[in-house]
Amino acid sequence: MYLPSLIMILVASGVMPVLGNMSTQPLISNSIRESNDFTEPTPFYEALAKALKKRKTKIENICPPSDPVSKRILEEYGAIFVADKKVTPPPVCVFTTEEQVTRFQDAAGFEADVFGFDEVELQPEALKKLNKARAEAQKEGLDITPRDGAEAARRNYEDSVRLWNSRFEPALDYWLAQGRLTAEQVARLRSLPLSQQVAEVLELEKTGIYFSKDLSKSILYSIAAPGASQHIAMLAFDVNEFENPRVREILAKHGWFQTVLSDLPHFTFLGLKEKDLPKHGLRSVEINGQVFWIPNVPAVHPGLDK
Ligand SMILES: [Zn+2]
Repeated sequence: MYLPSLIMILVASGVMPVLGNMSTQPLISNSIRESNDFTEPTPFYEALAKALKKRKTKIENICPPSDPVSKRILEEYGAIFVADKKVTPPPVCVFTTEEQVTRFQDAAGFEADVFGFDEVELQPEALKKLNKARAEAQKEGLDITPRDGAEAARRNYEDSVRLWNSRFEPALDYWLAQGRLTAEQVARLRSLPLSQQVAEVLELEKTGIYFSKDLSKSILYSIAAPGASQHIAMLAFDVNEFENPRVREILAKHGWFQTVLSDLPHFTFLGLKEKDLPKHGLRSVEINGQVFWIPNVPAVHPGLDK
């Protein structure tokens, strides 16, 4: 047997820890495997520093590493910060007001297109490449359509807060009913300012009190933290046809990749060639046949490690 595939089987079966040129990260699931089909990825922070320098900024300005929440958000959703220079990543990891989001979106610019009955908005280069991918899919009798209408693409700050609450609120009710949170804790969590709410949710998740839609994993794999969505950056598109491998292949060919672990319909526009992603600090992780390109950092993936 070809040695790398033997290693892959041992790794996938949990017999052997992931090591060597694959990653030093501990094995996180039987269905998750690190890929060694690509070249050794550059460390994310190294690639990020380079990308930000070209944009005349630095990490301290966008996402202070001393803040554990913004660090976590950067490591979960940060792929957009190493995107091609034809697009504009946000000036911060976490927007805190609608006004700040509007200012960024107006400066970056966006265009609209009609997909069926829905109008979707994205940064111009992202939309152009999405349309190319869609045309290619349609030529093969397939299609690429927005999931949940206009919300599939550009979102504003308020949308991101509303979506956060759509996970946060039912999870509070559930954990209260389960006796894992007290009424006092729930009332206090509800009353916290958003940034602190996010911080405390991420802390609770370390104890197994998860806030994703199915309550089995981190809320960050279900919905972005308020103000932190790649949809706010207008570089994300939720695709109905995400289960079709050929659709995913066509999207990748046009610079659209999956970059948020476990958010299955969510695609991110990076505008880069897949073979170049490792040198931009991203590494591939395959989960049940879908390839995710995530920041190459040693990380834990709460709720995905069982
Ligand atoms: Zn999405």
